[in-house]
Amino acid sequence: AHLDRMAEVEPKVQAFLHVDRETTLEQARAVDARLRAGEKLGPLAGVPVAHKDIFTTRDMPTTAASKILEGWRPPYDATVTARLREAGLVILGKTNLDEFAMGSSTENSAYQVTRNPWDLSRVPGGSSGGSSAAVAAYEAPLSTGTDTGGSIRQPAAVTGIVGMKPTYGGSSRYGLIAFASSLDTPGPFARNVLDAALLHEAFSGYDPMDSTSIDAPVPSVVEAAKHPDVAGMRIGVVKEFSGEGYQPGVLARYNEAVQLLESLGAKVVEVSCPSFKTALPAYYLIAPSECSSNLARFDAMRYGLRVGDDGTRSAEEVMALTRAAGFGPEVKRRIMLGTYALSSGYYDAYYGQAQKVRTVIAREFEAAYQQVDVLVSPTTPTTAFPIGERTDDPMSMYLADLCTIPSNLAGNAAISVPVGLADEDNLPVGLQIMAPVLADDRCYRVGAAVE
Ligand code: GLN
Repeated sequence: AHLDRMAEVEPKVQAFLHVDRETTLEQARAVDARLRAGEKLGPLAGVPVAHKDIFTTRDMPTTAASKILEGWRPPYDATVTARLREAGLVILGKTNLDEFAMGSSTENSAYQVTRNPWDLSRVPGGSSGGSSAAVAAYEAPLSTGTDTGGSIRQPAAVTGIVGMKPTYGGSSRYGLIAFASSLDTPGPFARNVLDAALLHEAFSGYDPMDSTSIDAPVPSVVEAAKHPDVAGMRIGVVKEFSGEGYQPGVLARYNEAVQLLESLGAKVVEVSCPSFKTALPAYYLIAPSECSSNLARFDAMRYGLRVGDDGTRSAEEVMALTRAAGFGPEVKRRIMLGTYALSSGYYDAYYGQAQKVRTVIAREFEAAYQQVDVLVSPTTPTTAFPIGERTDDPMSMYLADLCTIPSNLAGNAAISVPVGLADEDNLPVGLQIMAPVLADDRCYRVGAAVE
């Protein structure tokens, strides 16, 4: 049914980079055979899932939406892919993204522009915009994404679905093509909070293949989603994330959601987090720095594209030609920014300073979580913006992640849950619920109460 739905709406939405009906049906038949043989599979056995094309898949290509990986077939599965395969989920295909997950609109894909199913002239958010659009358009019931600065929560918010960034280290990065390793976090997309929790539990937990994986039990997110009791919970409203620059319709739905939580017995208090305004500049030093280092592996020798290798050029020349042709403008911008920020004369002023700011932000979260159980804010300052509107202005694109980035820098858990449509454009609005490290269950508890 989902493959048929894809055949119907993909020409308009363009959420997928790779679909292979036969491989999908083969997987479905294999799961069926396992169940018939009496194998005990989890609650999602037989349910289809779409993977962001940044997770390696051994039976499908993986491009990270970059020309530099065109045609690459990974020889192995990412841990997220492998665990979901083991649990009996069937892969529908690989979804579009901003190249190497750098962006907020999916317009930085080297292959195609994905459209927001609510309004085809608007973006589906990013970088996991193919995964959000696929679920919002009913092409897939579940999908995976990665969140480095907001790339699950922001696309979820602007397509009216649920998207969760687990605690950093709570879900494995093994087989996830690296952008900024200290921030990259795999997480689930779904149309409701319980579905997201089921997917979250199915791929999370300790993985010895990821050196920053947390060796602790996975928080009971499914239990929390099933028991959305917020009576007596202390909810902190982040003072800095409202007012000027926020769309009135976004604020209206957000305030209603907070009132709803209060009416359900939660205690709402205002919390000031003044350092959060420094999160965006700190992120745009740390993330490009890590990107410049991680993307050095695309050297024309190991994977994918190779340009100019005609026997007359040196390895360095082939490398330079390949990287010039294979990376798009945003990726090049980040490599240059990051290389600059890490260079010896500037390291202390930029990268070193940004790391200090990161520590201040983490401490401010800790102080806030002494007073409250969760923090809430709008997920994004505006609803989905028109395709093309922000492509020439990187700064305005970066602002889409104003509210989501602090939780990445601190490694905390955070979810986006739909809370209705903005009056001025009838487009979805998301509520962000943030919780401390390994308190992911609180995001689901509060999320299920407002959905
Ligand atoms: N939009 C942010 C960026 O461009 C976040 C991306 C992400 O979370 N992968 O870096």
